[in-house]
Amino acid sequence: MRQKLVIGNWKMNGNRAANTALLSGIVAGLNDFGAEAAVCVPAPYLAQCQAELSGTPVAWGAQDVSVHAGGAYTGEVSAAMLQDFGAKYVIVGHSERRAYHHESNELVAQKTLVALAAGLTPVVCVGELLAEREAGQTEEVICGQLQAVLDLIQPEQVANIVLAYEPVWAIGTGKTATPQIAQDAHRFLRDCVAKKNTAAAAGVQILYGGSMKPENARELMAQPDIDGGLIGGAALKSTDFLGIIQSV
Ligand code: PGA
Repeated sequence: MRQKLVIGNWKMNGNRAANTALLSGIVAGLNDFGAEAAVCVPAPYLAQCQAELSGTPVAWGAQDVSVHAGGAYTGEVSAAMLQDFGAKYVIVGHSERRAYHHESNELVAQKTLVALAAGLTPVVCVGELLAEREAGQTEEVICGQLQAVLDLIQPEQVANIVLAYEPVWAIGTGKTATPQIAQDAHRFLRDCVAKKNTAAAAGVQILYGGSMKPENARELMAQPDIDGGLIGGAALKSTDFLGIIQSV
């Protein structure tokens, strides 16, 4: 039985005062919901999360990590630094980084490996563009994105990653994938993982991301291969975020 997991991806949003209000709202409203909850925040706010979330059931993490361990890489943040501030998760390969920072499947795979080596849980994002879906290339695209990661990690490391299926056409658009579209993609991804490690594939959490909100979360998370959500817009209001967690 896979534990449900709901992760907020704050993207480049927040400030210290607003973060405190949001985090305390989440903690105060979080009862015994049977879902794990986490927030992935801009790197400068990791210290704030460590200060304000330690001892609560809410974990925290980052949205990117450098492939380098340290040194002359201006602007980069290493996995050890994320660890230093208690991060549990790090998102890798988000479609915004693939699009705006030209991250290739191979780079995303290297970031996954670096995160794993540091004891972080990488949340590996895959997803197709609208044009790719319309051209019938969804499986080919998401398989390619996932395969680059599977090629680089060891079979036993499969159990330590989280996957997120985020169709790019659904991110921030209000156009959520139907539960069936999402389920089909999740099932397909799990089958791909099984080729690397059959036993671990059954336990890998695969999150759905793309305009998930309290109104559609229940139906999505009721699908057999949808193990939670990676939430953008709706993670910025504690009532919405809690509403999604309560849908589990
Ligand atoms: P959204 O973003 O929930 O605002 O669509 C999800 C994501 O980009 O992770």
